Amino acid sequence: MMYEQELKTLLQANGATLVGFSDLGDRAPAEFPNLRYAVTIVRRLSDTVVETINGKPSIMYFHHYRTTNTKLDLLALDAVDFMEARGYAALPIAASQSTNTDKDAYKGVFSHKTAAVLSGLGFIGKNALFINPQYGSKIRLATVLTDMPLSPEFPVMERGCGACEICKNACPAKAITGNNYIYGNARDTVLDARRCSEHMKTYKDIGRGAVCGICMRVCPYNQRKGGTPS
Ligand code: SF4
Ligand code: SF4
Repeated sequence: MMYEQELKTLLQANGATLVGFSDLGDRAPAEFPNLRYAVTIVRRLSDTVVETINGKPSIMYFHHYRTTNTKLDLLALDAVDFMEARGYAALPIAASQSTNTDKDAYKGVFSHKTAAVLSGLGFIGKNALFINPQYGSKIRLATVLTDMPLSPEFPVMERGCGACEICKNACPAKAITGNNYIYGNARDTVLDARRCSEHMKTYKDIGRGAVCGICMRVCPYNQRKGGTPS
C-alpha cells in the first residue's frame, strides 16, 4: 500500500463515493497489457432521482445519469493527474463507453465491473449490474488503468442474489435470464444486452432512448432502508 490511501483521500475529497483498487493480472486489456492495475471510482445516484423511475425511466433520471457520468469522468482525470505526476501511465475509461467499434457485442473498451469485482467493493447481480452492499446498484462506475502497483483493500465478495428474481420479472424486455452471475462467465449468461438496448430505444421521448433503470429501481438492495433479497 504505497499510494492507495493518498489517492483514495484525494478522490473522496473531490466527490467519489467509494474508491477501490485491483490487480487485473491476465484480465488487463490485450491492447494495454502493461496497465494491469486499476482504480475503480464509484459515485452514488440520488435516491430521490432513482425513485422517479416508475415503470419507465424519467427525464430527471436521464439527466442525472449523464451528470453522474460526467462527474466520474472528471474524477478519473484527477486520478490520471495523480499517477502521471508520479511517473506512472494512466488511462481513464469513461463512465459511459462508446460501442462504436463493437456494436453487436454492446461492450466498451474495458469492463468497469471486472475491476470493481476484483477490488472487493461488490458483486454482479442477476441484472448484470454491479452491486455494493451499502449503495446497492444505485451507483455508476469509472475506471483508470495504470502501471502504478495497486493492491485491493478487500477480497473478492461472494455475496449474490440468492433466489430473488424481482428484476427478471420486472424487465419489460425479458432481457434478464434469472441466472446467478458466476464471476468469469460471459455477460450473456445473465443478460441479453441486445434485447435490453433495443428496449431502451422505446423511450426515445425520455433521454433519447439511452436509459431504462427499471431493474435497478426494483432491486431490494436499492431500497432506502437497506433491504436484501430473500
Ligand atoms: S435496463 Fe430495462 S430493459 Fe435493460 S435489463 Fe434492466 S429492466 Fe430490462
Ligand atoms: S432484484 Fe434481486 S435478483 Fe435482481 S439484482 Fe436485485 S437482488 Fe439480484
